[in-house]
Amino acid sequence: MRSPLGADIMGEFGLPYARLPLRGLVAILAMTFTAAANAAAPAAPAAASSQTEFVLHEVGPGVYAAIDGPAHKAGSNAGFIIGDNGVVVVDSFFDPEATRQLVTAIRGLTAKPILYVVNTHYHVDHTGGDGVLKAAGATIIAQRNVRAWLHTENYHLLGGRVTPALKAQIDALPDPDIAVDRSLTLWLGARRVELRYWPGHTGGDLVVSVPDAKVVFCGDLFWNRVSPNVIDGTVGRWIATDASLAAAPDAVATTFVPGHGELGKVGDLAAFEDYLATLSTQVAAARASGLSGAALADAVEPQMKARFGDWGAFAYFVPKEIGFMAAELDGTKVVPKPEAP
Ligand SMILES: [Zn+2]
Repeated sequence: MRSPLGADIMGEFGLPYARLPLRGLVAILAMTFTAAANAAAPAAPAAASSQTEFVLHEVGPGVYAAIDGPAHKAGSNAGFIIGDNGVVVVDSFFDPEATRQLVTAIRGLTAKPILYVVNTHYHVDHTGGDGVLKAAGATIIAQRNVRAWLHTENYHLLGGRVTPALKAQIDALPDPDIAVDRSLTLWLGARRVELRYWPGHTGGDLVVSVPDAKVVFCGDLFWNRVSPNVIDGTVGRWIATDASLAAAPDAVATTFVPGHGELGKVGDLAAFEDYLATLSTQVAAARASGLSGAALADAVEPQMKARFGDWGAFAYFVPKEIGFMAAELDGTKVVPKPEAP
């Protein structure tokens, strides 16, 4: 499923928390992401309950962002959109218990059917609860490549060190029912929801926007003050994607829901774009001065730390990001390979 690459780059990048059962994973995520919890949140919480693993924010009329709670038990952000005739959910968390809580939250707001869940990408921290939503009646929509990668690339994402419980969870993930190549419009009565493919994070990412509410669910194309996982990324294209999203006509008035971290505005999206651009620029400069491997990482990490050292998960992800960025610039980076159409 992957194109060739030097094994020295890939072999060491399994997530260490993959060895742990889900609750252990949750604890690690809680530790790494706590520093990101103070980013500006433009909307007041509609519900902040110790009973749920997420904090629900109404970010527009009938549009809700479910932001991973302070303990990071849900594993990622999600959300949902209530239209005239039903509900569209965006992403399903890592922990299915959080997904069950999301269904309960939806049921507390509307009796309309849950029509769809849109997966922003294949990673199990965003698709882990798809089965719960399917059982609740949802049709699963994802970019075309997701169906091929769900039950292959997720093992790679977790470093091949999945626990039996995690393996069972990934094995049981339901396949998407509808595949999107480039874009898809969902009409919920009068409400329009736009799905659009954007490159950069995995090669199979959808951004979900609700134009009437000026809300954009970015998935992991946007991490708000949290260092990103670029294991599947093509950073050069990712920077261009975020620049395009930030330059959209309504961007200043838009709420951008990240895959990880708190709700953002266009300035937060620009800060993330700056993070990726700085990573790319610094690694390119180090390569140009003849550095490689550990010496390159030693030169770049302090530069990144000076600018972004207070971001969540920084110490964990930045050494990996530098290695992947160098591989991308070397032309040896491996990314998930799309199936032939
Ligand atoms: Zn994620």
